[in-house]
Amino acid sequence: MTIQEKALVIFSGGQDSTTCLLQAIATYGQQNVQVITFAYGQRHAIELEKAKWIAQDLGVRQTVLDLSLMKQITHNALMDEQADIEQTDQGMPNTFVDGRNALFLLYAAIYAKSQEIKHIIVGVCETDFSGYPDCRDVFIKSMNVSLNLAMDYPFQIHTPLMYLTKAQTWALADQLGGLQYVREHTHTCYMGVEGGCGECPSCLLRNKGLAEYLESK
Ligand SMILES: [Zn+2]
Repeated sequence: MTIQEKALVIFSGGQDSTTCLLQAIATYGQQNVQVITFAYGQRHAIELEKAKWIAQDLGVRQTVLDLSLMKQITHNALMDEQADIEQTDQGMPNTFVDGRNALFLLYAAIYAKSQEIKHIIVGVCETDFSGYPDCRDVFIKSMNVSLNLAMDYPFQIHTPLMYLTKAQTWALADQLGGLQYVREHTHTCYMGVEGGCGECPSCLLRNKGLAEYLESK
């Protein structure tokens, strides 16, 4: 039994948001699910291509929004081909983009309301917390309140991965029948290597989680 309401998934084509999308389709039904993808000057076009391919393959409507204006006001390694990815002195990876999730949620909500969608799903996670402040549950809850007040609309932001480890996120994909799908089709590598470089922080986290899950099976 699916819930007869509509949902919007914030979708990057990576492991986490693809798992959220599979869960949303199982919960709301494919015809009730849409995705929104943000282009903000990511280092690698491969992310956007994967996201487009998956949305098409799963038969959900995708809206791609260009937020490359971010480059005018903030600088970070995720958007700069020249920069090395590393930890900063504050212990945060220099891939952090200030305000990114606040901005994504705001645009997602504006779009969602125009489509009469209340449910917004985002794959942020506090567990493997890299120090990104806008991945914390407290931020998402406060943003939910702000959006509802801003637009006088009862949005419900869902964060199904908030307290899962990477291994548990793989387990969830498996429960949804999507383990192979997520392994094959999603892109998470910071270096933009098809199939993953195996060395960047993102690949390490993904591979470690997968190994843990497969061992525990
Ligand atoms: Zn990588």
